[in-house]
Amino acid sequence: MRRKDFALWFVLAGLALMASCQGGKHEEKAIMKEDMDLTVDPGTDFYRYSNGGWISRTKIPDDKTRYGAFDILAEETERKVKDIVYDAWNRKGDTTDAEWIKLGNFFAAGMDTATIDAMGYEPIKPDLDNIAMVAKPEDVVRQLARLCPLGCRIPFYITVQEDSRDVTQMSLSIYQAGLGMPDRDYYLDSGADYERIRAAYTSMLEGFMRVQGYEEAAAKEVARDVFEFEKRLAKGSMTRVERRDPIRTYNKLTLEELQKLTPNFDWSLYFQNMGIEIPKTLIVDSPSFLELVNRELVATPINVWKDYMSLQLMTDYSGVLSSEIDQLSFDFYGKTLSGQPVQRARWKRVLSVTQGALGEAIGREYVAKYFPPESKKRMEGIVENLRSTLRETILGLEWMSDSTKERAVAKLDAMGLKIGYPSKWKDYSDLTVSRDRYALNVRNARIFEFNEEMSKLGKPVDKEEWFMYPQTVNAYYSPTRNEIVFPAAILQPPFFYPNGDDAVNYGAIGVVIGHEITHGFDDQGRMYNKDGNLENWWTDGDALRFKELTQLVVEQYNGFVLEGEHVNGSLTLGENLADYGGLSIAYRALEKALKAKGESVQSPLIDGFTPQQRFFLAYSKVWRNVVRPEESKRRLKTDVHSPGEFRVNGAVYNIPAFYEAFKVPEDGPYYRTPAQRPTIW
Ligand SMILES: [Zn+2]
Repeated sequence: MRRKDFALWFVLAGLALMASCQGGKHEEKAIMKEDMDLTVDPGTDFYRYSNGGWISRTKIPDDKTRYGAFDILAEETERKVKDIVYDAWNRKGDTTDAEWIKLGNFFAAGMDTATIDAMGYEPIKPDLDNIAMVAKPEDVVRQLARLCPLGCRIPFYITVQEDSRDVTQMSLSIYQAGLGMPDRDYYLDSGADYERIRAAYTSMLEGFMRVQGYEEAAAKEVARDVFEFEKRLAKGSMTRVERRDPIRTYNKLTLEELQKLTPNFDWSLYFQNMGIEIPKTLIVDSPSFLELVNRELVATPINVWKDYMSLQLMTDYSGVLSSEIDQLSFDFYGKTLSGQPVQRARWKRVLSVTQGALGEAIGREYVAKYFPPESKKRMEGIVENLRSTLRETILGLEWMSDSTKERAVAKLDAMGLKIGYPSKWKDYSDLTVSRDRYALNVRNARIFEFNEEMSKLGKPVDKEEWFMYPQTVNAYYSPTRNEIVFPAAILQPPFFYPNGDDAVNYGAIGVVIGHEITHGFDDQGRMYNKDGNLENWWTDGDALRFKELTQLVVEQYNGFVLEGEHVNGSLTLGENLADYGGLSIAYRALEKALKAKGESVQSPLIDGFTPQQRFFLAYSKVWRNVVRPEESKRRLKTDVHSPGEFRVNGAVYNIPAFYEAFKVPEDGPYYRTPAQRPTIW
């Protein structure tokens, strides 16, 4: 079970449009009328009423595919991270600290475009030469094993995580993968859009072959064969909706059982060549996908396997090789898939890669410089208020039986909380970094990461581990650890206003917290118990009523259309439930917080808005964005989060207090009758 994050928007990039400084007197105002469109009726289209002014004057920067409140905060964080890394690059600060030197060297190597261009694809040539030696199916198995630690997830990937039926144990897991395009549908769907994308993809593959000296006709043939091979993998892959099912994707097999299922694929040989101990059991998300790989291992000509492996390797390293190769990759992944007109500046891209390799080394500096301890204290107060509010809510539910309530409350009380940064930092001493070999540094970093992952096998679960960096603008809930985690970087406006009133803080960071907490009780999260184990702790009647209520949300979001395409209500269900739950709980927690101070949601007015209205306005501000059409379409296919517009206009119209805060016409496009509102929490 992978972790669920709040937004999946943590690519750091971009330009500056807005200034804010944390804790100081320059803190931005939470609600600004010039950002709104007061000519729109709030009850008819709350997203445009609250954000219309900002949307109409905001242009997406050329190096971006989407721009919104989230991205603006990510940019501010990027500038802070840049200062840190530039100091390391320029050999300022503690030049005796080995980690600091690695950080500077890693970045320096990435900025050295003269060396990078001169080397072409030389850095991965030894790996390509190894692939070229492949002569029979066993050699394919050997090569796949060697490519896995380099970050090539073909045609499946291996990871170590908690066994979700016994989370005290770490287990080896195998997930379907192996596609160069973002989803199986890109290979299988019909229509002009997909034809165009497929043509661009094969043209990138052709380009990669020509770089290696192939003539045009031969390059075309290779690209076509590899595409057809990937298409067969796509056909045998589960859909994204199927992959959301924690029961279906939990298949624990002994090595013997796995070997029997896939007799052509020698798993002992595979793990030996990977350099790890042969596991006794494994957890497989899709046995039928492995059966397909087993068949293809002998049915697909060896040459196609070889071309597939080399093209995937080149794709995986294209961003850190010469500009010619990099450009081929950008033309497809940036321009065609997401509509991005120009590449991000070199320093931004190298910064992202450096973060991927040495993220906690940067994080350590980041929190020392930018994370005030007071923020953590106020945050803890809000979290505990939300927790007790949800506890009261659960105990008062009419649709849930007492026995399920008892288990739900036990799970809520056991839920762990992490704020800011990890209690111990990752040790990078085993990572080798040079100042002039960028791709090699990346290769080393991936192997380092892989070894670290594998070293968890057979050891107790490390409860202190974080799955995001402190400088990441995001948050997550881990179902197998039953914990919510908020990195330092999200504790800034427009999520968290150190000097802001309760209404805006509960509407923004309060909903983020409620969102993560209620992930523990969404359609997937509810299948895990308080310890993080998959266990059915619901009575049949409660489970049935929950399903009926959530079906309302599936249908509601299925009805939303963007760029001519429908939102997938089943794919986005968990996130939509968390948005609904987060709003619902955070609003009630706000009422409690105000009551404790002798205040109410109706007064005082700030800038002409009641606290009740400011709560919803602050929530809506978080999700305002402008998106390129290509990027919208790509996300509708692949992202488990709904588009920002519907995270607002889908969620708020399910909350009764919203109907008190703003007059909603019954014939409005987003109006929900009381019977249509899910009333889960
Ligand atoms: Zn989420």
